[in-house]
Amino acid sequence: MKHSRLIIARTMITLFIALSLVLTGCSDSGVYNDGIYSGEGSGHHGKIMVSVTIKGGDIDSIKVVENPENKVLSASAFETLTKKMISTNSGDVDAISGASDSSRGFIDAVEDALSQCRSGELVKSDKKNSDLIVQESETVQNYDIVVIGAGGAGLTAGVTAAETGASVLIIEKMPAPGGNTLVSGGEFNVPGSWKQKEEGVEDSIALYMEDTLKGGDYKADPALVSILAENAIDAAIWLKDDIKLIFDDHLFQFGGHSVPRALFSKGGSGEQMILKLIERGESLGMVLKTNTKALSLIQGTDGSIVGVKASNLAGQDLRFNASKAVIIASGGFGSSLEMRNKYNADYGDEYMSTGQPGITGDGIKMAQDVNADVVGMEYIQTYPACSPKTGILSYVADNRFFGAILVNKEGERFVNELGRRDTISRQILAQTGRAAYLLWDSNIESISGMSSQYSSEYNELDADKLICKVESLDEAADFFGVDINTLKASVASYNKNVASGEDTQFGNPKKRGIIEPPFYLEKVAPSVHHTMGGLVIDTDAHVYDKDGNKIPNLFACGEVTGGIHGTNRLGGNAISDLLVFGRIAGTNAASN
Ligand code: ADP
Repeated sequence: MKHSRLIIARTMITLFIALSLVLTGCSDSGVYNDGIYSGEGSGHHGKIMVSVTIKGGDIDSIKVVENPENKVLSASAFETLTKKMISTNSGDVDAISGASDSSRGFIDAVEDALSQCRSGELVKSDKKNSDLIVQESETVQNYDIVVIGAGGAGLTAGVTAAETGASVLIIEKMPAPGGNTLVSGGEFNVPGSWKQKEEGVEDSIALYMEDTLKGGDYKADPALVSILAENAIDAAIWLKDDIKLIFDDHLFQFGGHSVPRALFSKGGSGEQMILKLIERGESLGMVLKTNTKALSLIQGTDGSIVGVKASNLAGQDLRFNASKAVIIASGGFGSSLEMRNKYNADYGDEYMSTGQPGITGDGIKMAQDVNADVVGMEYIQTYPACSPKTGILSYVADNRFFGAILVNKEGERFVNELGRRDTISRQILAQTGRAAYLLWDSNIESISGMSSQYSSEYNELDADKLICKVESLDEAADFFGVDINTLKASVASYNKNVASGEDTQFGNPKKRGIIEPPFYLEKVAPSVHHTMGGLVIDTDAHVYDKDGNKIPNLFACGEVTGGIHGTNRLGGNAISDLLVFGRIAGTNAASN
């Protein structure tokens, strides 16, 4: 039904475009024939469709007709590309970094449309792309608080500070805000939530704290973990009541947690959270500047931090003074090969990253330049189930949390699928081809709904031949060249165990058999996902120097900090961390 509606919609769009062409006719006065033309390109999540209007032989406007891409990233990228294309009268422009797949799809779609109406040799307009770059009229600006990084932590801190009436600037080096939070699953752990009460789940701050400490091999700072556990509920209520985040109605249990305690943002990603935080911040007068990169912290003669030096796309040298405080919220260093190799070469060149390209440890380096201390830098986490082609985390593979099992090329199970991320990742890398195959059936899929919720990812995996949906285990094994006899024996033995109430082989607590066709088999491999180490902070989010003193006026929150997750961050704890410590940093910076 849904599918046929889509076909009707597409047919209508095509008819509309064809009709418009007939009505507008063609002119060959400029580079292109006048009219409205449709074009298609492949983005990160599927097909992007545009309609390009040519007037007087030039590109007049570009409309996006179909867009499966991340809304925050693509909105800013498409707007910039459209301006560039109209100003240069050409589809031949550079992709926007940080949204390169979406940009590529958009550029290809526009080029596809233009290829249908090109009437002569392309002469590029002499308007320069640089005309489109925003110039700051003042290169020195004054605020109460300057925040570096517009991911979840920076936006939370900025909004919280702005709620007190402080003037807040957030600078973001990428073209779009959101950081890794934007591309996350948008889930976070909260003991004692309204949802747990509804579902009768018994939980406590102490149990959440113990799970988090244990999950990080007791290497985390218990004082920080205690703050995380105690304040998660207030942060969730703030998101619900003040930020107006809409929650999904299910509760989730990630590996390493004793009970289901993760709340979910509706939409299954961090997109809603980022959009709503920006909306709230802007309503409070918070200023957000993208394409603006922090370069260094400015220190007063007494050693206190008084501002940030930055640069923008226009190449201006900027100075943002902060009368109260600077908050570093620039994320981890998962996308910096140099830093991964420096702090733990085991997670160097062999791994791709699930993170966005801006997560390169800038805030850590800037703070180290003013003598800040770091902790746990060698603790780098990999996520077990990512695309072996792009390194991007696979949400379709979240079927693992609903009973899917992992097998190797030889058809054998080799790990508890709901064990710790680091253990599963290590085990996968020890298998043939450094990859594994996740297997589930239609019963598990109907409970999880993952393949339809993340349908664009599913289609992409399908196109890349990284997933199959087939009627028999024989076909699934054949698709990836997995040993069929051993696979069948592994599934039979697992199903027998499940029927008797226990997975005696690896102790997967989910206990759901792989029985009902169609069967799904997805190839997965680990990618670097989170860097647990970072700046040393206290429970007030103050940054400390190597001599154990507070660096005056300097706060940090989110993945840039260390000490909260020990050796290994549990699923759903990144957002709990950035919300709790983002709110603390924002409050304390404002009252500094
Ligand atoms: P967290 O989860 O801690 O909020 P995110 O990865 O979500 O971390 O966000 C960190 C943000 O900081 C990213 O959007 C990243 O592009 C931005 N960032 C990193 N380095 C800089 C820098 N030097 N200047 C401005 N923004 C930065």
